[in-house]
Amino acid sequence: MPETLLITNGHVIDPANHIDKKCDVLIIDGKVEEVADHIPNKGGKNSAEKKVIDASGKLVTPGLIDIHVHFREPGDEEEETITSGSAAAVAAGFTSVVCMPNTKPPVEDETDVEYIHRKGRQARKTHVYTMGSITKGQEGIELAEMGFMAEAGAVGFTDDGRGLQNTSVMLKALKYASMFNKVIAQHCQDDTIAGEGVMNAGYFSTILGLPGIDSLAEQAILWRDIQLVKKLRNGNVRYHAQHISTVSSVELIRQAKKESLPVTCEVTPHHLLFTEEMCAEYDTNYKVNPPLRTAADVAALKEAIAEGLVDALVTDHAPHLQSEKELEFLSAPFGIASLECALGLYVKVLIEPGILDWPGLIKLLTIGPAGVIGIDKGSLSKGKQGDVTIIDPKAEYKIDVNTFHSKSRNCPYNNWKVTGRVEKTIVGGEIRFEAPA
Ligand SMILES: [Zn+2]
Ligand SMILES: [Zn+2]
Repeated sequence: MPETLLITNGHVIDPANHIDKKCDVLIIDGKVEEVADHIPNKGGKNSAEKKVIDASGKLVTPGLIDIHVHFREPGDEEEETITSGSAAAVAAGFTSVVCMPNTKPPVEDETDVEYIHRKGRQARKTHVYTMGSITKGQEGIELAEMGFMAEAGAVGFTDDGRGLQNTSVMLKALKYASMFNKVIAQHCQDDTIAGEGVMNAGYFSTILGLPGIDSLAEQAILWRDIQLVKKLRNGNVRYHAQHISTVSSVELIRQAKKESLPVTCEVTPHHLLFTEEMCAEYDTNYKVNPPLRTAADVAALKEAIAEGLVDALVTDHAPHLQSEKELEFLSAPFGIASLECALGLYVKVLIEPGILDWPGLIKLLTIGPAGVIGIDKGSLSKGKQGDVTIIDPKAEYKIDVNTFHSKSRNCPYNNWKVTGRVEKTIVGGEIRFEAPA
């Protein structure tokens, strides 16, 4: 049962309501009742017995949202399950996550969507949402049952893991999803250019003797998709570019936003923290898709964030078995498991160098991502679900993969020293995570 919670003395950051000051937050029956300078514990209009959480010296924010995670269920439960992924999510401060549908089999009808939701409810940790596949079997040919999936609560559609290649299928998908007011999210990659590439195409792929993925692969698909959005710009069409990674993508997004097209985008921590050079030791923990790019690309992504061109920060949490990641670079799977250390990484790469301040960061983890998928979350407005994250912005700690709730350890951040720790995660008025003392 959700309790009546009174969070006192914290510094509340609620970008949606332009709140950035010390105040109290009251949650009753799982919903936000009030945010005010001082809410008395006893008496007043809310006389119910309150559990008081003293948040002195802490940040109190709307529950964080990650709209791009892979929880691997069904099909690869040894890598992650909805239960283990959900536990990792709340430990990282995320009160809502969006699972990608490239499971085995992929999420492609309403029963699949309901399955993910049910598993999420049973886990009783974070709110678990899912996107549905755009095409049947994610084969890029025939549209999946998008209408039924939308009805069952899918928050958008993607064939993530690969890009949707066929232009006329993409055009139909955008039109069809818009009838249900859902977003189409794209893993922007042209297969004919990317080929069998395993890292960024350039100097390092040449000296390492590894096949490369040219940044043109991302640019080509993103450019094409934006042309389709332009053609369909009336109505409810919404397009989201997932994990953009290049200078040219930033330029395309900048132009699309200038033209007020319904185009959004997201960026991952690894594309901000690493360059292609990290692959020089053939360490498969740096094998991701899209690949780690050049210093110029990283700089462009940071600039885009500072400029307000990026709508959401996402982890693209992609857990894999150690045995798979121990394969040689050519054969190992793509992906980094980063959900559980995300906040510390964002602080390191965005707050410490002054690219964003705390309200700027929290915006890209709350109301920003909520807006991309169109869910009524990401703020502490009265009546909203009582999802709250309490953060100690000064706590320093070492990332230790052995403490992860996630089942996977394919994480290049092990032993990194970071600042900014999640203290408590409150979901629907229930404390679902508390940092060990
Ligand atoms: Zn992807
Ligand atoms: Zn992904």
